[in-house]
Amino acid sequence: MSTPVSARPATALNTPDLTNGEAPALEVKGLVKDFHSGGLFSRASVRALGGVDLTIRRGEIVALVGESGSGKSTLARCIARLEKPTAGRILLNGTDVLKRDRFQASREYRSQLQMVFQDPFGSLNPVHRIEHFLTRSLTLHGKAGTPAQLRTRLDGLMTTVGLTPDMLNSYPHELSGGQRQRVAIARALAVEPEVILADEPTSMLDVSVRIGILNLMRQLRDKQGISMLYITHDLASARYLADRIAVMFAGELVEEGESLDLLANPAHPYTRLLVSAVPDPARTGSYDPRERAALRAAVMESSSCAFDGDPEQRCSAAEPVRHRVGDPANEHWVRCHLYRPPASAASHALSAEPRTENKASA
Ligand code: ADP
Ligand code: MG
Repeated sequence: MSTPVSARPATALNTPDLTNGEAPALEVKGLVKDFHSGGLFSRASVRALGGVDLTIRRGEIVALVGESGSGKSTLARCIARLEKPTAGRILLNGTDVLKRDRFQASREYRSQLQMVFQDPFGSLNPVHRIEHFLTRSLTLHGKAGTPAQLRTRLDGLMTTVGLTPDMLNSYPHELSGGQRQRVAIARALAVEPEVILADEPTSMLDVSVRIGILNLMRQLRDKQGISMLYITHDLASARYLADRIAVMFAGELVEEGESLDLLANPAHPYTRLLVSAVPDPARTGSYDPRERAALRAAVMESSSCAFDGDPEQRCSAAEPVRHRVGDPANEHWVRCHLYRPPASAASHALSAEPRTENKASA
């Protein structure tokens, strides 16, 4: 095991070479979210996020992957300020938004950051026509203009998301799932956001229309420079869409890196488990069903980490440090005591994080 080179807390390192001098579009530092559990008078809580650090540069698409219940939606909802984080910071263009808008997200924040949800039907009130949703969004953010300008903007939004302007007169139930999700995206676009958080935007859609939504998201990034957090449990779509992938396990990011590099060289047992579920014609022979079952048993059959509570493993006593994996250009790191860096990489530990708090609740 290599010796960590610095003892800075994780929030201070936050991959400093990511920003190229300009503030990233979105930065999350040490985000913690505890949910109250138990009865009315109980003080019990569940830790859904255990101190998450995440950076999204301008015009970058970062995928957040992890199995159901790992905390992905909680992170997005905290960033969108639909949930109140227990601790941590959220910076948009370098501005600390929890300090600026202490109690709720301001209109300014909503015009900078929008969220697209999994269920496009649930997010569109069935009694209104499509025109209503888009007009409302434009009006709320002062972007409606004159009636003629409004008409042009409505038509433009529909065209941008690949729908025809005549569909403005439709009701949500008259559209397909894919078309409804396009409307939800158009509604988010109406405010001209810099960042979009898309929480499993394709998981309720037919397989045949998913690719269209992913292509639309990519187009929005390419043409409008919108930064995105793309949440999914589907690594294949993450590879297709995202520049970088962050892997969440039990409320903590355990590995992150440039998409292709992370998928080609997964370093954390949990990432390997996720990767093993992705059909890949180029990977012949590896991950037969038995190997996958063993991997799953090792990683999943535990409340937190398979190695938690094992006195032989250092995870039980202290948080694992971050280790850089491979070429620094790939910005690939892993946090796991089981990771053994190559002997030549003694200086590759990125932080020694002196957090020894209760791991079981993470
Ligand atoms: P994911 O989106 O990755 O499936 P979630 O963020 O929805 O995961 O959930 C993470 C954990 O937080 C789960 O254990 C879930 O039960 C818990 N959780 C989420 N929302 C709430 C809530 N409102 N109250 C209590 N626990 C919650
Ligand atoms: Mg979710």
